[in-house]
Amino acid sequence: RAAEEQILRTDGLVKKFGQFVATDRIDLTVERGEFRSIIGPNGAGKTTLFNLVTGALPVTEGEIYFDGEEITGLSPSERVRRGMGRSFQISNVFGGLTVRENVRLAAQSIGRDEYNALEALFKPTDRYDGMNERTDAVLERIGLADVAEEQADALAYGDKRRLEIGVVLATDPDLVLFDEPTAGMSAEETQETIDLIEDVLVDQTLLLIEHDIELVMELSDRITVLNRGEILAEGTPEEIAANEDVQDAYLGG
Ligand code: ADP
Repeated sequence: RAAEEQILRTDGLVKKFGQFVATDRIDLTVERGEFRSIIGPNGAGKTTLFNLVTGALPVTEGEIYFDGEEITGLSPSERVRRGMGRSFQISNVFGGLTVRENVRLAAQSIGRDEYNALEALFKPTDRYDGMNERTDAVLERIGLADVAEEQADALAYGDKRRLEIGVVLATDPDLVLFDEPTAGMSAEETQETIDLIEDVLVDQTLLLIEHDIELVMELSDRITVLNRGEILAEGTPEEIAANEDVQDAYLGG
């Protein structure tokens, strides 16, 4: 199998906090085109693994490969430049800018073209025809073309979620990472987010960290279950639902 078919691979990934082993030799492979979820009980190591993959935390041992190249020591922004898109939730949207400005700024500043964020802000827009096209395409895709000139702060809740995804898509990512996208949401907002992910991100490669089993059962191609820093099981939603070790880990706490 060609290296490029594996968009992400971790090889023996260990993270220790002092003596405590938060992730213990995690070998994770994500194939291009799949929707992979990582679930597990509280304290399983999900957030730690997410932070290792995005570069927010340095690894203790092991390697991370992205699109066939080792990225273990690279900064988070260099990973973004290489095509690792990460949902930063509300914080990646500038409330005072319009919807279009938010998407275009993301396309200009953290896209893989060599644009500088500050320069992009102050250069006249007609210098960036390609950027404007990409911006329009993203606005269409997230269904916000009609409200493109509205200020982000003025958007309804669901549209703000759309814009957050638009900001990630504007960077043209090969892999999109989500950390608990429905955390703190009502049942209605959760369903809206599920619909949005299914609708807008259908042909993206996705890695979702989530504690809500219902959500991942509905969305995932494959699920990796972490428990106490180790991979407990991996498989389709059906296989995971039928796995007794998984049931024990969740019920046994
Ligand atoms: P999850 O996201 O699956 O709930 P985490 O990755 O947040 O799990 O945490 C895994 C374990 O590592 C937990 O026992 C947690 O207390 C511990 N841990 C996480 N971050 C730190 C840290 N910065 N310092 C010490 N221990 C940590």
